[in-house]
Amino acid sequence: MHEKLTLEQKSHIESLLLKQRAEYEELEKHGSFSSASRFDSLNERSSNFDERARDDKLGADVKQENHYLAILSKIDRCLKRLDDQTCGECIDCGQQIGYDRMVAFPMAERCLSCKIEFEKSSLE
Ligand SMILES: [Zn+2]
Repeated sequence: MHEKLTLEQKSHIESLLLKQRAEYEELEKHGSFSSASRFDSLNERSSNFDERARDDKLGADVKQENHYLAILSKIDRCLKRLDDQTCGECIDCGQQIGYDRMVAFPMAERCLSCKIEFEKSSLE
């Protein structure tokens, strides 16, 4: 049975999350900047050359961008969780995730066994 996180442990995890958040914010900024300008030029031109390749490329960019946004919102969710009583608890079973695991994976929302179960079910 894991102990609840102490204030020092919480603030350490918070600093890890904030650091990751800054990194992903950078990535997201650059990602949205380049695809926003590409969207503009696509709207202005209606030529049909290289249509397929262009769509593939655009799709990959948007996917990448959504990925960063998803991570950012997850980090925000984790930061919010640090403030409430459920901090450090597995969102599936309610057991403590464990400080070591949270340092290794500050975004962890599940204990190791629930994570394994979750990944098994999402693979199908
Ligand atoms: Zn669990």
